[in-house]
Amino acid sequence: MITTQVADVLFVDCGDGYEIKHGDRAGQITYTRQPRARYECLRCHHASPVVTGPTAVAHFTATARTDHRATCPGHPTQQGAQAA
Ligand SMILES: [Zn+2]
Repeated sequence: MITTQVADVLFVDCGDGYEIKHGDRAGQITYTRQPRARYECLRCHHASPVVTGPTAVAHFTATARTDHRATCPGHPTQQGAQAA
């Protein structure tokens, strides 16, 4: 049995859209509902603002957890640093 302690949650809504098949914008995605993402840390109860837009969401999901852990007052590495 594996016990997993959930310490943070990354919510990602990929939105709705369709890929343009022809023309100058072929390969691009047109969104009828923009992608959204937000991050919550359950250690310190930090909740990020909601990020919208494909580029912002991609960046956010790639960095939100790492960025927050660097400053999270409840993260073990922060406590460990004080203990050591
Ligand atoms: Zn935190």
